[in-house]
Order: sequence, then structure tokens, then C-alpha cells
Amino acid sequence: MKQSQLFTKTQKFAPQDEVSKNAQLLIRAGFVHKEMAGAYEFLPLGWRVMNKIMNVIREEMNAIGSQELFMTSLQRKEVWEASGRWDDEVLDVWFKTCLKNGAEIGLATTHEEPLTALMKDYISSYKDLPFSAYQFQTKFRNEVRAKSGIMRGREFIMKDAYSFCASQEEHDVFYEKAKQAYINIFRRLGIGDQTFMTFASGGSFSKYSHEFQTICDAGEDIIYVSEEKNIAINKEVYTDEVLADLGVTKESLMEKKAAEVGNIFSLGTKFSDALDLTYDANDGTKQKVIMGSYGIGPARVMGVVTELLSDDKGLVWPDVIAPFTVHLLSLEQNEATQKIHDQLTDSGIDVLFDDREVRAGEKFADAELIGCPYRVVVSKKSLEKGGVEMQRRTEVQNEIISVETLIDTLLKG
Ligand code: ATP
Ligand code: MG
Repeated sequence: MKQSQLFTKTQKFAPQDEVSKNAQLLIRAGFVHKEMAGAYEFLPLGWRVMNKIMNVIREEMNAIGSQELFMTSLQRKEVWEASGRWDDEVLDVWFKTCLKNGAEIGLATTHEEPLTALMKDYISSYKDLPFSAYQFQTKFRNEVRAKSGIMRGREFIMKDAYSFCASQEEHDVFYEKAKQAYINIFRRLGIGDQTFMTFASGGSFSKYSHEFQTICDAGEDIIYVSEEKNIAINKEVYTDEVLADLGVTKESLMEKKAAEVGNIFSLGTKFSDALDLTYDANDGTKQKVIMGSYGIGPARVMGVVTELLSDDKGLVWPDVIAPFTVHLLSLEQNEATQKIHDQLTDSGIDVLFDDREVRAGEKFADAELIGCPYRVVVSKKSLEKGGVEMQRRTEVQNEIISVETLIDTLLKG
């Protein structure tokens, strides 16, 4: 990608009404655009990051056998009435609208009800179970506070997965697999060290649900972290009884602000009861399907990474989700740099090529703001010394190396 052709430009200032650090930086660097509070457009650089995040999630969901689908955001009132969640008093974040014929419909806040209803067409026997399905799909929520930038959108993409099992034992097996998948996901996304599996309220079908909470000052939750056990407890269930249950003492816990990047939830038969999703068991009886739901907010992850890793010069992306691995800066050496660009991309490396006719200082400042993991400068001096000048975004020292060594280093990661 040539930077001269990228339609976004970096900006010195973020919009005055933008209070969150993640949105301020992402807007300045040209990753997102603010449409209104709680609604952001993802621009080419930001959309690349989102896709890389979603691909890591997709790989781990596929690895546990979950099947990707894509549902509609337009939802029928009937299925929500069946579960008792159509009422604005019950679910206070609804966006609702009407069809031309006057029929009321809802814009998806989540997909338990419609997916449970859909599965009535596909589940009939115990032989159809267990399985799970997931999607990356737009949710609309009329959130009261939308001050956390892309961490809390009024429209946002959610990865939501749902499991369908014949028995509690079958459910527990999948639930444990999902837990492990989530641990892998947040580790691969570069926030594993700061993310804790957190015991939270479980609803009527299980004692606890599990949230994945990343320690972050911009987060809106309070958790109590046990470093020794590598778990945390959400403030909402922080009682003497729960501490005893989990075998932790008050003194060993640290109170932290955190952002919920994902959660996994045992739903029992809540939705299969409401929408009558049954299967014929081995013994000929009709049984209710046992369900679970598993969410992750890719944009919230992107916001959290921004909040945690960026520095006073700009964004800092972990290699796996960086928009480009290399930011290649040509200091009046566009022809030679183009050749190096081609060698890198031929080796499968993502390159943002700064071929613009602007001052070197501007190129350096933009490279820091955009935050690609490797800055590679091609100048008359570097070429004379037989190569390019490479510097990691997180380090201060740089070195001149040959293009071959650069490619070797990058492919090793
Ligand atoms: P919160 O308590 O933060 O509002 P939630 O309990 O409503 O979250 P879920 O409905 O379970 O969250 O959604 C699953 C995941 O989707 C969350 O773990 C979070 O990562 C993400 N998410 C939820 N609400 C938003 C939002 N408004 N903007 C962006 N991501 C969101
Ligand atoms: Mg919410």
C-alpha cells in the first residue's frame, strides 16, 4: 500500500468533543472516523486491524469446531415477546423500528432469541447435537453512556457464538473448550498478561458466568484480581461466600479497573423453554436443548489495545494485529525503495510504503503515530552502507541491515 494513495491523513488534533484516549488517537492516526457519539467508521487502516483481530478469533472458534454463519440484524418482535425481552423496561438498550406495513421490528442487540427460533428448523433428534455456531454481526444498543470511544459503540460488531447440547455434561465439555479458546484468543491478541478470567453473576442456570476482563483504566468494571490463581472476581459477585467458594482471601486480591473484552455464559434451557426448542432423546422422550452463549467485542479489544500499549508518540500495535508489519519510509529513494517493497511483499510481509514527497520529520512522526511494529528507512546513507535502517516501534536503537536479513528477521517474527 502506497501512503500517497491512502485517502486518510494523520491529524494533529482529535475532535474537541472526543473524550476517550483510544478514539482520540485512532482518529488522529486515521484509523477511525467519528460519525456521532457511539458511532464510528472504520477507515482502511482501522479496518485492517479489525479484520486481523476477527481472523484470530475466527481461527480459534473454528479450532473448537464452531460453524460460522451470518444472521440478519432485523429481528421479529414475536421471538422477543416469547422470551419476555421485547419490553423496553426489561431490555433498555433497544433500537426499534417499523416496516412500511406498520409491523414493529427490533434491531439486533444480541441473537439468542432469533437463533433459538431458527434452530427449530434444524434440530430434531439427539443425533443433531451437540454443535455450536458463531458470527461476526452488527449489534445496535442505545447505550446511555457512550464516552469510551470504540470500546462502547451504539452500533458495533460482536463475535457471538451459541452452543446447543443434549445434556449438561455435553454442555460442560463445550464450555471448557470455549474457555480455552478465549484464553488463546486474548494471548494471541497481545493482551493475555493483562486479561483475567473473571467470575461474574451466572443467571438462573449456573452459579457463575465467566468474563474475560482486561485491566485498563478506561474500563468501566471493577474486578478483584488473584494473581496467584490467575483469576478475578467481578465486583457484582464479590461477597465473603464467593471468596470462600473460590478459595481466595480478601488480602490476596487487588482491586482493579477493567474492561470486559469477552464473556461466556451457560444459558441452560432459558431460551429453549421460551421458544420451545426440543429434541427427541434416545429413549423417545422430548427434551429441551441446553444452550450457552459466548461473546467478544473486536472493537472493544482494539480500543483496549490502544489504551494499554500506545505511548506519547502514538499507537503501538502487536505484530499480529498491526495494520501493516512494516512501515517503509523512503527518504528521496523511491525507486530503490519500490524494489525493497516488492521483495518484502513477495515474501508475504504487509508493507505500508511512505512514498510521499514530504519532509523526513513528517514521515517519522507519522510512522510513530500509526504504530506499525517495524519502521524501515531507505536513505542514501543506508543504501551506501548496504541496506536499510530498521527500528522496532517499541525500541529506540536502530540498525542498518541488508534486505535479506530484514526479511529473515520479519519472517521469524
Ligand atoms: P457491558 O457490560 O460492557 O455493556 P455486556 O454485558 O452488555 O457488556 P454482552 O452483551 O455479553 O456484553 O456482549 C458481549 C461482548 O461484546 C462484551 O464482552 C464486549 O466485549 C462487547 N460489547 C458489549 N457491548 C459493547 C458495546 N456497546 N460496544 C462495543 N463492544 C461491546
Ligand atoms: Mg452492555
